[in-house]
Amino acid sequence: MANEYQLIILGGGPAGLSAGIYAARNKLNTLLIEKAMMGGLAVYAELIENYPGFPEGIGGMELGEMMLKQGEKFGLKTLVAEVQALEINNNQKIVKTDKGDLTAKAIIVALGSERINMDVPGEKEFVGRGVSYCATCDAAFFKDKEVAMVGGGNSAVSEAIELTKFASKVYIIHRREQFRATPILVEKAKSEPKISFILNSTVDSIEGKDNVENLLLNNVLTKEKSTLPVSGVFVAIGQRPNTDLLKGIVSLDPGGYIIANEKMETSVPGIFAAGDIRSNSIRQTITAAGDGAVAAVYADRYLGA
Ligand code: NAP
Repeated sequence: MANEYQLIILGGGPAGLSAGIYAARNKLNTLLIEKAMMGGLAVYAELIENYPGFPEGIGGMELGEMMLKQGEKFGLKTLVAEVQALEINNNQKIVKTDKGDLTAKAIIVALGSERINMDVPGEKEFVGRGVSYCATCDAAFFKDKEVAMVGGGNSAVSEAIELTKFASKVYIIHRREQFRATPILVEKAKSEPKISFILNSTVDSIEGKDNVENLLLNNVLTKEKSTLPVSGVFVAIGQRPNTDLLKGIVSLDPGGYIIANEKMETSVPGIFAAGDIRSNSIRQTITAAGDGAVAAVYADRYLGA
């Protein structure tokens, strides 16, 4: 039957694509399902400088395209569809999608995580009119303009540095004094003359007429309020795992991430997890790709058992 596979991979980020390369090369009849663009959250990285084999760095989008090409070369099949539910019927796993039901004996869940919103007044209203979650995608719209970046992790700091290529000024707004981002990135940002830091501060609301004009800021230590005039605000305050459809099926940790062992096995035989969706993942492209390879090898062994 056309809708039956040995292995279905959910998610087309580095974890899913790497699993796809290994599984297809091992001649497993494999389908990879992705709802949007192949490459996962890595597509938002303009330059990944720590993926081995690329001494000059590589764009996240380009890396995703190369991984897909590599999988397809070995016979990996792909489907663009939204996964709506996962059901288990004896040994068979049923993947319900907006394009119909598909079945497989083994599943690799590599659905990654999604960006968290600030949930402040004005944020939703101004998406695409000054509020952005992707500096790589939208930086060019802010040429010679003043913008803000919210967050203190690697995403916020590295994307703020990228923004300086276009913006005349970039304010990094972070709720603490210390950064979650690696010191080397923070040092790089500190040495960039276009970047200024607004620490111990959060965004209360985003204001403007047609487009973003001001941010209302709150100093969390002094409770002092201030207004920051900017044309754009980029939000990079972390991610949450895409595990809604796994709830009640596999064991999740308190943060909602899938608990998997060193073989990427979850609490359900035949369901494997790989990449950012996995508990204790360090959420790097290289580790996601490694997880995908491990999951595919053990899925192959499970299928052959
Ligand atoms: P992250 O490391 O979880 O950092 C999120 C940041 O946002 C933290 O500084 C956090 O503050 C802040 N934050 C969270 N909720 C907030 C809120 N409601 N209001 C204001 N600030 C808030 O997320 P990330 O930067 O997206 O990185 C995710 C993973 O990808 C990490 O493992 C990171 O290393 C990796 N990554 C790697 C690279 C690379 O170049 N290698 C690039 C990007 C991302 P607190 O610190 O106070 O909690």
